[in-house]
Amino acid sequence: MNPLEQRLAAVKSRLLAAELAAGRRAGDARLVAVSKTHPAETLAAAYRLGQRHFGENYLQEALDKQARLGHCDITWHFIGPIQSNKTRPIAQHFHWVHSVDRLKIAQRLSEQRPAYLPPLNVCLQVNVSGEDSKSGVSPGEAAELAAAVAALPRLRLRGLMAIPAPCDDPHQQRRPFAQLRTLLQPLQASLGLDTLSMGMTDDLEAAVQEGATLVRIGTAIFGRRDYGKDGGDAAGGQALR
Ligand SMILES: *Cc1c(COP(=O)(O)O)cnc(C)c1O
Repeated sequence: MNPLEQRLAAVKSRLLAAELAAGRRAGDARLVAVSKTHPAETLAAAYRLGQRHFGENYLQEALDKQARLGHCDITWHFIGPIQSNKTRPIAQHFHWVHSVDRLKIAQRLSEQRPAYLPPLNVCLQVNVSGEDSKSGVSPGEAAELAAAVAALPRLRLRGLMAIPAPCDDPHQQRRPFAQLRTLLQPLQASLGLDTLSMGMTDDLEAAVQEGATLVRIGTAIFGRRDYGKDGGDAAGGQALR
């Protein structure tokens, strides 16, 4: 096995072990491979190993890779901060957007979602306690935003997403994830939401324990990211470690 194959297999077995430890079914939490900073060839290699969902943070970088991987049956997730002047290509080229945190962005995505595509799947990013960045709607405003976004015609609101601050203690890691789960519960019933996008390389187990349905894993699959000469720019994003 090559290193990528080994790491992908190791992440899958971590995920499976976490699902079973939480009393959940195998496959309950979908693996999104976060491929920011990694070249299209690396994504193609993961694709050949069966990976189909990829997460990207930087629009132009993602569009370049999509152009090169156009023949692949990939589900693309946009997980980075969204500038309002960049919503059109996001609405055109992604299947999911996890980082919606204000109504204006959601309205633009809905207006700009092409009619020939199915509605865009979106999650609201919530600034749960210990959130690392300033992005995200506050927990107190999440329900109101969810109701407004759910009413937009070209979006399909699926759930909530969070990026808690890094924390080494597995028990502490569960708190913000539990908070997100609690926030989802009433919306699950009223708006039919089904997605908790939470869990990264260092807190996958805690997230699955608290009900993650979609984990976003980068480093454990692709190795450490090298921001290289453009590091200053790229590191301006959120939750880069
Ligand atoms: C980079 C990133 C990830 C992946 O983080 P790792 O710690 O490398 O697994 C997940 N979610 C978001 C929003 C990211 O920006």
